[in-house]
Amino acid sequence: MSYVSEAMQELDARNPGQPEFRQAAKEVLESLESVINEHPEYRRNAILERIIEPDRQIMFRVPWTDDKGVAHVNRGFRVQFNNAIGPYKGGIRLHPSVNLSIIKFLGFEQIFKNSLTGLPIGGGKGGSDFDPKGKSDREIFEFCRSFMTELYRHIGADVDVPAGDIGTGAREIGFMYGTYKKITNLYEGVLTGKGLTYGGSLARTEATGYGLVYLTEEMLKAKGKSFKGSVVAISGSGNVAIYAAEKATALGAKVVTMSDSTGWIYDENGIDLAAVKEIKEVKRGRLSEYKNYRPKAQYSASGRVWQVKCDIALPCATQNELDESDAKTLVKNKVIAVGEGANMPSTPEAQEVFLKNGVLFAPAKAANAGGVATSALEMSQNSQRLSWTFEEVDAKLHGIMINIYRNMAAAAEKYGSKDNFIVGANIAGFKKVADAMVAQGIQ
Ligand code: NDP
Repeated sequence: MSYVSEAMQELDARNPGQPEFRQAAKEVLESLESVINEHPEYRRNAILERIIEPDRQIMFRVPWTDDKGVAHVNRGFRVQFNNAIGPYKGGIRLHPSVNLSIIKFLGFEQIFKNSLTGLPIGGGKGGSDFDPKGKSDREIFEFCRSFMTELYRHIGADVDVPAGDIGTGAREIGFMYGTYKKITNLYEGVLTGKGLTYGGSLARTEATGYGLVYLTEEMLKAKGKSFKGSVVAISGSGNVAIYAAEKATALGAKVVTMSDSTGWIYDENGIDLAAVKEIKEVKRGRLSEYKNYRPKAQYSASGRVWQVKCDIALPCATQNELDESDAKTLVKNKVIAVGEGANMPSTPEAQEVFLKNGVLFAPAKAANAGGVATSALEMSQNSQRLSWTFEEVDAKLHGIMINIYRNMAAAAEKYGSKDNFIVGANIAGFKKVADAMVAQGIQ
């Protein structure tokens, strides 16, 4: 049996009841066969067994009281997956669906994504099954304070540096940072995504969405194509989706769809982003309100954005939101490129449909790495006690995304899978971490 097959068996046996984690880990393991065969030292050092087992997994109780004085208990998680190339780094997800499997899948992906950025950051992820929707600012503060009252003892600027993710934006990061500082009396860059008045980086808010478009544009350019003049379908209407829409529009595309967890909008004249920002960022409302701004747009509470004809699809909401039948519809409608803004938004079957039909496909760990890359730039600025201009950060981000594209394309070609960027990104991300683990001995 091949080393990769053995590792997959161990993965299944050790992680029953963790479908998202096994899906993410299998996707990586399956694509490593050629690099594993070339490097027998990986097997000697049990690299695969070690890379699928987190360094540690922390689970804790998060008690808080609501505005009526009623007590609630949520579950908190932090999975510190791998720190072979730098301190653990990855976001905090606040969503009722959060469980250990989801945090492990995200932490595992983060190892390779962070490696691909070329910056010295390891992989980790955290979160809670807390639902921020409909909560008052005081309730959010209560929850964040309670969450950090446990988390603070496991993190630090050179240990583990959490950031935002679904449900964790600038407000939540502010409350968590304030609690960390209060408990430890340390003013250090322990979280990223901070506000600009207390150590945040310009362009961090825009980074994941902009980075997604920079990388997708590079992939298109290699085939003589571009965002200019194209029709783009985007899912989600959160941080990643909004800034992907902004940059795609700036490059001359027309974005016609966005969605949230209750429905989606289609605006054939191009989405009015100022309206979406007001609804989602200011009012924290529902996309159904979009019709108040653009009465001719369509709102639908059922179905998905992928039924709309488009040239480029950018899934930016959540995992497994684009399945085989969505992929077939996109192919039928002649989509030319898909760039994953969310983590693992396409199911394995959907990915196969894209690859088989020659659709250019940029996998999440490369395409959405701009967020964590800019977080690492925030860490650098904090360590130097300096802050760079928006243009400086944006230019660095752009350069990083171009490099990621080149590295994944080169790895895909070298290992015999030209234009299969899933294989390319997995191998390019894996190799650096595996070599660092070999050099550091069996730990
Ligand atoms: P936000 O919370 O800002 O936005 C998430 C968006 O997706 C919202 O529109 C939300 O709708 C929608 N959504 C969430 N869950 C579901 C669901 N189960 N079904 C349908 N829609 C859903 O999160 P982000 O934009 O930060 O994150 C989006 C994705 O990008 C995630 O996969 C995240 O892991 C990934 N990512 C984020 C990075 C970042 O820098 N923020 C970096 C790299 C990856 P609603 O408003 O109704 O909740």
